Amino acid sequence: MAEVTALDPKKFKEAVKDKSNARLKMWLEICAHCGLCADTCHFYLANDKDPEMIPAVKGRKVLEALRKKDKIDEEFLEDFYWTIYGECTMCRRCTMFCPFGIDIATITSTGRGLCVSQGKVPENLKKTIASYYEHGNQMEITQEEWIDTLQWMEEELQEELPGATIPIDKKGAKVLYTVNAREPKFYPMDISQVARVFYLAGEDWTMSSKGWDDTNLAMFAGDLKAAAYISQLVRDAAEELEVRRVAITE
Ligand code: SF4
Ligand code: SF4
Repeated sequence: MAEVTALDPKKFKEAVKDKSNARLKMWLEICAHCGLCADTCHFYLANDKDPEMIPAVKGRKVLEALRKKDKIDEEFLEDFYWTIYGECTMCRRCTMFCPFGIDIATITSTGRGLCVSQGKVPENLKKTIASYYEHGNQMEITQEEWIDTLQWMEEELQEELPGATIPIDKKGAKVLYTVNAREPKFYPMDISQVARVFYLAGEDWTMSSKGWDDTNLAMFAGDLKAAAYISQLVRDAAEELEVRRVAITE
């Protein structure tokens, strides 16, 4: 659920202006309504082929939202919010089948950005984004907990491979290895398994004490400002440590 926020037509209009680029307009205008994308969407198939779930129809709602500008109203926004966050996972399957390659996922992301301008974002995503700002990762892991986890995993590793390490903030290492923050939270052994591979491969690698979470849920939320901030955390770590490559998990 999104918390109820006051409608701000001026901000909505500004967001429309910000997001209306030529590529988006072209996609929204060239759709031939051929329907080839319908059967590719899991929402359409899982909802008894409800026409509202056809990717092109969802795309049309974004076009409608863009045309509203500051004429946006609560009723439209509420319906739009549920469509844009609840009826598209941005998987891009429909794009693979569209003869024009219309990218519904990017169109959905644009729609989410319009909702962001109204503070209308699912609560869990909002909390996650706040965690990135506060802790630099999506799971509210403090820096102390992160370092503790790495040291703990290093000890576990050394029981089997004496001499193997999990280097932290090693300046000039070749590879900066980053992880999904769910790993230290729920599956810390994944980190020691990867460390084992790096060690046996003789790789020159490190992990960062600060920029290490390679997920970016702000991107899914459509909050591109927050998404840029999150990406910058890893980039800053890579530049500070002067690594040559950033490796990501998954
Ligand atoms: S990108 Fe969205 S509309 Fe297209 S197939 Fe995936 S879920 Fe359906
Ligand atoms: S396949 Fe492409 S052109 Fe055809 S309806 Fe879907 S989005 Fe429009």
